[in-house]
This record gives sequence, structure tokens and C-alpha cells, in this order.
Amino acid sequence: MALFGKLEFQGGTMAEKQRIVIVGSSIAGVSAAEGARKQDAEADILLLSQEPFLPYYRLRICEVLDHPETAPQLTLHPPEWYDDLRLRRLQGTVTGVDPAASRVRLADGSCQEYSSLVICTGSQSFVPPIPGIQRPGVHTLWLMQNALELAKVIARSRSIIVIGGGLLGLEAAYHARRAGLQTTIIEKAPLLLANQLDEAGSALFCRRVQSLGIRVETGADILAVTGRDDAPESPARGVRLADGRCLEADMILVSIGVKANMGFLEGSGIRTERRILTDTCMQTNVPGIYAAGDVAQPDGYWFGLWPVSRQQGLVAGSNAAGGKAEFAMNIPPYMINTMETRVAVQGDKGLSEAPGYSLDISLDEERGHYRKLVYRNGILSGFMLVGDTSEFVKLQQAMGKPTASLVGA
Ligand SMILES: Cc1cc2nc3c(=O)[nH]c(=O)nc-3n(C[C@H](O)[C@H](O)[C@H](O)COP(=O)(O)OP(=O)(O)OC[C@H]3O[C@@H](n4cnc5c(N)ncnc54)[C@H](O)[C@@H]3O)c2cc1C
Repeated sequence: MALFGKLEFQGGTMAEKQRIVIVGSSIAGVSAAEGARKQDAEADILLLSQEPFLPYYRLRICEVLDHPETAPQLTLHPPEWYDDLRLRRLQGTVTGVDPAASRVRLADGSCQEYSSLVICTGSQSFVPPIPGIQRPGVHTLWLMQNALELAKVIARSRSIIVIGGGLLGLEAAYHARRAGLQTTIIEKAPLLLANQLDEAGSALFCRRVQSLGIRVETGADILAVTGRDDAPESPARGVRLADGRCLEADMILVSIGVKANMGFLEGSGIRTERRILTDTCMQTNVPGIYAAGDVAQPDGYWFGLWPVSRQQGLVAGSNAAGGKAEFAMNIPPYMINTMETRVAVQGDKGLSEAPGYSLDISLDEERGHYRKLVYRNGILSGFMLVGDTSEFVKLQQAMGKPTASLVGA
């Protein structure tokens, strides 16, 4: 591994300080810095950040939509935390990686040399190629800057269409509704949270969303974003659906998924597919170069979740500093807390009719509670909770165990 940086004398011999450069300063990047510092008390650690803000809780940025003044409260750590760990921070966008020279290029033309590199550049919103989607008035939401700009647009709008009923779309719709906007969620799948819930759970959740005054259109395919007139630069006025209906709104938010920020790796020799391929030590095919968080795909797995990004960041940072950590590939539970209700799902959804399956289902429409336990040959293989998630920890501990382990627990 090439070594750069300051030369220091240790006990009469000259030792070189490691220089660990981390690209991207959200949860994966900050965790990588933490992991690296724990492994090496002396390393020179540089966190490169494209965003002008102190690293913040990205998963809470929807709170800014109806309360922009709360933005500073979302900071991950105060500035002193970085000083105490001797982590240097530099604002800049990386535009290229040159493994042969062990350095990254920045948009301002400068370079930073590294002995190990950790790429934590995360995601950006995916915008589908729908006619009219580039019109003014169509927004995305991933960065704090997006949230601050959207908050201003929301403040002067009366209605919003949110395209996509996943976690982010739901949260954004909830906060837009709280800000007083007529809110419509358009979801292509026949159910809300179709990947997480079964029909009964989704129907209950959907009624909860509707009870807040939010219109939900499921199974709705968008053919085009319509403008005030036909000119391509004419501001968005609504959407045209495949069933012929046109829905109107002052603003549109596209929230149908994400794609990885890795265009700057072109020509670097770092192997990518839809994301950066790594092993479970979070190392890429290029020795000394690691990736973690949303941008990484260890052993073919990708979750796009905050706690996973944190864990991968810690592993990548530690290994970049000489450690031997490994990312434990556990499929995390799906948990959301939005629309004034909660959802917790883990494992098997219980949709199979195979022999040996049994279900324990209870539904309390009035209180908005749904509970489904899935057993395979008497062993708890999955659960689904909507509304009351107080049993989550107990059920998680009972996973993989026989029915009896839940009795009287
Ligand atoms: C509104 C919202 C709600 C969410 N809710 C949840 C939730 O409830 N639970 C959950 O588990 N997850 C949730 N997530 C997902 C979670 O936030 C992500 O999984 C997590 O942020 C990924 O972290 P990351 O550090 O890998 O990347 P990111 O958070 O995407 O950060 C990457 C950073 O790298 C920077 N960057 C990109 N390219 C460059 C470059 N070339 N040079 C320098 N810097 C660069 C970016 O500007 C950014 O600051 C939510 C996300 C959003 C937006």
C-alpha cells in the first residue's frame, strides 16, 4: 500500500503517518472516520464533503419541510466532536480517483493524496424518464439543501403531488400535509408499502394515511408531467395517468427510489455494477480503496438504510486504518414511524401456502393495529406489526425459535 503524508520519528526510526481520505461525509463517511480513528490514533484523517453543512441526520430532513428553523437541530455532532477526534473536514466535490497515483481530484482542480481511500458518496434521487419530468416545479428530496428549498416552495403552494409511496415519499407527504397542502400520493404498485406489508396490513396503513386528509392513488401509472402549456419549459401543473385522468397540483415531488453517486469513478478501475462492489471487509477490487453505505454493495447485498451505512462505515474506516473488521450481513428489520403510526416488519411475510406454514393474525380496525406472526413448522419466521409495535423487541428475539418461546413472554 502506498504511503504518503508527514514523516515522524518514533523511537529513532522514521514512521509514516497513514493518510486516510474519506469521500462523502454523511453517516457512512462520519462512521468511517470514527472507525479509522479507533484503529489508528495517529492517522491523518480527512473527511471530504460536497455539502456545505455539518453532517446531519439525513433520515430526518422531512422535518425541515414544515419547520425549516429546525434544520440546525439535525446535526449529527457538534464541531468540537470532530476536533476532539482530530478529524479534518474539507468542503469539495471529488471528480476523479487515480489509484496509480493514490490521489483524488477535486472540482476546484486540487488533489488529495491518500494511503487508504474510503468512498461514502451515497445516493441521489432517481428521476424516471417520464415526458415532462424536467419541467420547473418538479422536485426531488435527498439533501438538506433540497429540503430547505422545498420548504420555501411548500410555503407558497396549496397542493402537492408526491410520486412514490415508499418511506421517503410517505414522510414528505406527511410533512407537506402538516404544512396545510392538499396532498396526493401516487403509487404505481397496487398497495402502499407493497414490499413490506400484506394486503390487510397495507389497507389498514392506507386508511391511516387517508384519515390525515391525504389522497392516495395506488396502481397508478404516470404517463406524463403536464405543464401550464405545451412548451417543455412551461412549469408543471400536474400529471396524466395511464387511465386517462389528469391530476393537478402546484408542485410535484418525485420520490421513487435512488441511484448511487459514483460517476466520478469512471476510468479508475474500481469495479461497479449498480453500486460499488466490495467484499465483506468493504474493500473494493483495488487494494487500499474501500466503499461503505448506500454507494456500496458488499457481496451483492444492498439495503439503503441508515444503520447499515453506519455499520459499514465503521468497518471500512477501521480496515482502511489497518484493522480486520467484517460487515455482518444480517437482513435488517423494516421499521418506519410516519403518518402518526408505526410499522415494523421482519422476515417472512407469510404469503406462502406451502405445508407447514401457520399464521397468527389479529386486526383491531378501531385502534389501527395489525399483528401478524408467521410460523414455519412451529418456528417464528416473520412478523408484521402496524400501529402498536411495542412487541418488536420480544418478537425479534423470538425469531427462529418455536412457538412456545412466545408464550407468557
Ligand atoms: C428523507 C429520508 C428519510 C429516510 N428515512 C430512513 C429511515 O427511516 N430509516 C433508514 O434506515 N434510512 C432512511 N433513509 C435512508 C438513509 O438516510 C440512507 O441510507 C443514508 O443516508 C445513507 O448514508 P450514506 O452516508 O451512505 O450516504 P448519503 O447519506 O447519501 O451521503 C452521501 C454524501 O456524499 C456526498 N457526495 C456525493 N458525491 C460526492 C462527491 N463526488 N464528492 C464529495 N462528496 C460527495 C453527498 O453530498 C452526501 O453528503 C432516509 C433517507 C431520506 C433522504
